[in-house]
Amino acid sequence: MTDHHTLPFGVFSQTPDGERRVGVRVDDTVLDVSRLDLPHAADFASSSLNAFLARGRAHWDDVRARLQALLAAGTEHLLPAQGLTLHLPIEVADYVDFYSSRHHAENIGRMFRPDSPPLTPNWTHLPIGYHGRSGTVAVSGTPVVRPSGQRKAPTDDVPTFGPSRRLDIEAEVGFVVGTPSDLGTPVPIGDFAEHVFGVCLVNDWSSRDLQAWEYVPLGPFLGKSFLTSVSPWVVPLAALEAARVPAPPRDTPLLPYLDDAEHPWGLDLELTVSLNGEVVSSPPFGSMYWTAAQQLAHLTVNGASLRTGDLLASGTVSGPQRDQRGSFIELGWGGAEVLTLADGSTRSFLEDGDVVSISATAPGPGGTRISFGEVTGEVLPAR
Ligand code: MN
Repeated sequence: MTDHHTLPFGVFSQTPDGERRVGVRVDDTVLDVSRLDLPHAADFASSSLNAFLARGRAHWDDVRARLQALLAAGTEHLLPAQGLTLHLPIEVADYVDFYSSRHHAENIGRMFRPDSPPLTPNWTHLPIGYHGRSGTVAVSGTPVVRPSGQRKAPTDDVPTFGPSRRLDIEAEVGFVVGTPSDLGTPVPIGDFAEHVFGVCLVNDWSSRDLQAWEYVPLGPFLGKSFLTSVSPWVVPLAALEAARVPAPPRDTPLLPYLDDAEHPWGLDLELTVSLNGEVVSSPPFGSMYWTAAQQLAHLTVNGASLRTGDLLASGTVSGPQRDQRGSFIELGWGGAEVLTLADGSTRSFLEDGDVVSISATAPGPGGTRISFGEVTGEVLPAR
């Protein structure tokens, strides 16, 4: 069946160094939006989605309706997707990474702080996050060069310098901001869909040995900033109505600005993590404790403004079961458990040459499934 519903936006060129323009994926083709008679058509002859995204919800919905009508009537501006080069779809403004899976936070807490309760006292009161490095967000397919840095195991007296021995992934979901907001003015939780255009997949590559030594007291830094990969297609929120679910029950009363009873933005995405083509995990995004709407409300409650191109990542998606963990540190329990692959080999952390791919689907209209495509990358040796 022809998918005129998902209509994910991306940026493509017909040769690797060719002119970039905006496209919409339709089955195995890409609709060259820059060739269509649309309002503000110049936005689409562009190397990023930002100009289109900045125009806001009413315009996004208008363009979506016009695309659906054009596709229903038939258009000649469909290019075979195979052979096109896909680029980073947005010019990333600010990048914030959250920590919103309770199962992930509890797993990490047990490993990093075995003598303390797994969740810190603030965790059920606010969506914890940190500001990441937007300049090292790259499109799927970009290889990850194994980072070097300071590592110090608890049994070492002093740190040593060298390639990370604990290179990991974090399977996450990203939310792309279109409409900016005013400095000093919080964005209420009910305005989420006025500001957020759509959803992509994120791999927050992470070096656990660099991270463990550097993260106290200010949080992640070089253990995270060497690369963050995103999928090339941004699925509009407008395509995800059938995927909306309430978040799981919260056991701590929410402050009013985070109360989402009237604004449920849980999304029933099923993620799949593959290592060298073998599925190793199936994290359920519907199990996330904090939603992106709550994250947006929290991010701006102090008056911090939004910019077009802001990227909010969910944090590692991990479910309650072992085969639902969204990182290798959880799958191998920090080296204490062994992840055995189909060929009999084992993994604790990533090896040079490993290829990791994260894909996802979600419920669409009438029992269909929406595909988010994938975000993939190969590990290259340290330089
Ligand atoms: Mn992360």
